[in-house]
This record gives sequence, C-alpha cells and structure tokens, in this order.
Amino acid sequence: MDKDILIGVDIGGTTVKNAIISIQGEMIDKWEIPTVLKNGGKSVPQDIWNSIEKKLSELSISKDRCLGMGVGAPGFIEPGTGKVAIAVNIGWKDFALKDILRDLSGLQVYVDNDANIAALGENWKGAGNQVNNMLAVTLGTGVGGGIIANGQVISGANGTGAEIGHITVEKNGASCNCGRKGCLETVASATGIVRQAEELLAEGKALKLKEKKNQINRITTKEIFEAAADGDQDAMHLLDRTFDILGFSLANIAVIINPAKIVIGGGVSKAGDALLLPVKRAFETYTLPRTNEACEFVLAALGNDAGVYGGAYLVLQNN
Ligand code: ZN
Repeated sequence: MDKDILIGVDIGGTTVKNAIISIQGEMIDKWEIPTVLKNGGKSVPQDIWNSIEKKLSELSISKDRCLGMGVGAPGFIEPGTGKVAIAVNIGWKDFALKDILRDLSGLQVYVDNDANIAALGENWKGAGNQVNNMLAVTLGTGVGGGIIANGQVISGANGTGAEIGHITVEKNGASCNCGRKGCLETVASATGIVRQAEELLAEGKALKLKEKKNQINRITTKEIFEAAADGDQDAMHLLDRTFDILGFSLANIAVIINPAKIVIGGGVSKAGDALLLPVKRAFETYTLPRTNEACEFVLAALGNDAGVYGGAYLVLQNN
C-alpha cells in the first residue's frame, strides 16, 4: 500500500495539536486535545496515540498508509534519541518521547523542539516559501527561534541550537526563565515589552499608556503599540529601543546563517509593519550590506498550524 499520509503533532503545555496531512501537504484534518499534566505528564503519549487512532478510524484511513509521525515538543530535545531532556511546563525530565510513541503506534516517529518544528512548517507551507536558509522568530510569552540552514533544521549538539531567545543582550539585565539575566527574551517577548512598560508607569512616565491602563486595568503589547501611535513619547522610546535590540540580535545571527528570509510570528507580530519596519531598519544598520541584500522580512502565515505542518514535514524529510 502506498504511504501517502503524514501525522503532525505539536505538544504544548495546555493543548496538543494533531493533524493528518497528505504527503503533498494538504490538511486532511486537525484537532486539539488537552495536555494532561498530572503524574508528570506521563499519560501524554498514550493520550496522543489514542486520539490519532480514533481519528484515523473515523476517516477510514488505514495505519499502513501512514509514513510516520513528526512531533514538536517544548524544551530541550536530544537530537537522534528524541528524548526530552527537560520540558518544565509539562514536567518531563529525560523523557523518552520518541521511543514511547514509536512503541505505542508502531510507526516511525521523529521528535524535535517545537520552535524548530514551527520553523520547518512555515518554510514548507507558510511564509518561508521553501528557501534553503531561513530564520524564524516567535515573539510570544517568550522568544522562540528556529533556524533552517542548507535545508536542515539546526538542533545542535545537545538540543540547544537556535535558542535565540537566550542570546545575551544586556549584561545584568532582567532575570530570565533560563536562570540567567539579560536574555533577548527578557526584552523582546510580549512579557518583556510589558515588563518594560510597567517600569515606565512605576516611574510616573508614559501618561497616554497610563490612561489606557486605567480604562481596562491591564496592559498588553497592543495598548503599548496604540499609545506609541497616539504619540506617547515614552512608549515610542520603549518600542524603538526594543526593536533596535531585536534588529541587532537578528543582524548578528544573519551574518552566520545568511538567511533568505526572516519569518516573524507570535502575538507581538500582530502589530505588522509597526514591528517589521523598525526591526528591519535596525537590522540594516547592524548587518553586512550583502547579507541584508539577500534577506527578506516576512510575517509568519500559518499561526497555530505551523507546528503540525512542521511535524509532518519532518517525516517527509526523513523518508
Ligand atoms: Zn534566558
């Protein structure tokens, strides 16, 4: 029987996204299940496989048609073994995710970090447009990174390749989840931008932003972008400084991998050109002119589906 079906799985701390995708890249079905965190997340692989088996049966797709399962998981993944060294938000430590899923399903299973997988997905079916060299950045609660070099995702020697959220951008800066200080994530993530804004408000600055906060009793990056657009000088400076640091970091990565595309996604990217244009301006200032010539900045196109497409593509790439 021809193997014409790919299974993509994207494991998050709240939900697991699953998809059945054809080898041509058509989405046949996608759905989510909750991530059950009790007992240290032990039941997650079984939950995933039960739900996929049920779906395949509903769709009358025989398991024999499945080429394999590609899985994105949070945390550091040991290349080759597919073991999750540590995934704090699920509770896994040295968790043999690949072996467990392979034993449950009888299928070939491939596992990589969720941000790396999302980069593969964006490159296969989204904004990357199948270039050989690409950098994907997700500006969400944290800063996620994925690098495709010569068509391959970079995982590194022990699974910390492309962890661009943890480039040090400020010595003795704000504390990061990784235990160090001044990582890019502490500045350019949604969390980092809001933290900087709260500091301004505590100093009695950013009065337009303060009005917005008083109206809805909280601030997100949306209110900060709005305050800057309304002429709040302090909010403008905050964003200018943040985008300068982000553009500077991307410029330094770009002279190493020479990407044809830098794909920016995540909640902060909803700001569109108000984000892309200043980051690109900073990037141009700090990178080699020839590196800049080759590089196009684009917004991510697949949203939450990037991970499952990337998982499916990982299977395709390995067969
Ligand atoms: Zn860090």
